[in-house]
Amino acid sequence: MIKENIDRVLENIKEACIESGRDSKEVSLICVSKTKPVSMIEEAYEHGCRLFGENKVQELCDKHDHFKEKGIDDIEWHLIGHLQTNKVKYVVDKVKLIHSVDSFHLASCISKEALKKNVCVNILIEVNMAGEETKFGIRPEECEELLRQISVLPAVKVCGLMTIAPFVENPEENLQHFSNLRKLLIDMDNKNIDNISMGILSMGMTNDYCVAVTQGATLVRVGTGIFGERDYTR
Ligand SMILES: *Cc1c(COP(=O)(O)O)cnc(C)c1O
Repeated sequence: MIKENIDRVLENIKEACIESGRDSKEVSLICVSKTKPVSMIEEAYEHGCRLFGENKVQELCDKHDHFKEKGIDDIEWHLIGHLQTNKVKYVVDKVKLIHSVDSFHLASCISKEALKKNVCVNILIEVNMAGEETKFGIRPEECEELLRQISVLPAVKVCGLMTIAPFVENPEENLQHFSNLRKLLIDMDNKNIDNISMGILSMGMTNDYCVAVTQGATLVRVGTGIFGERDYTR
């Protein structure tokens, strides 16, 4: 079932690209495997998936280590959930990209821990486009100042922006948020801030990734649509 789901999602991404005149090579699928067992990740891996997203540090590290012990080293682990500073040290050398940086304090902590491990960490700035109080992320108008602050840190590299859109019945309702995030990305790119590149737009989840792709997403994060509903009661 996982294989069929992946094929369907990839097909939908392709169609959204055609619809919006994009090259589907510009869009990568992150399989969001949080709460799911490694056996499911293995199935997706065997079907060709290499990008996996987790929202908890402990779970990401456990899964990372599981595959490393099996000699599999071509998986890209993406941390997509809120990151507490006291957990930064565990993930800096295990992740391809941290999607959820929303403060200078967190970015400087990542840089400090990255230096200790002699790595440079790729990050995205999380922006709360709909202004939802329950969500993490900066306000769009705070973006430039945060980028300028982070640009001087030695061991983090800002690669783009990420947003988690509201849960809506009709995904088209999120179109404006995705479109606005892309405008913000272009606007920030035009500032030519040192050490900042604005190539990645991480937006779109199971409910709205097709709309996100038509608005320029380069990374979509799909969990339920691949692995099925999550059970948080276990
Ligand atoms: C869980 C999660 C996803 C995937 O959500 P689905 O609706 O299951 O596709 C995407 N992004 C983030 C940040 C998440 O926490």
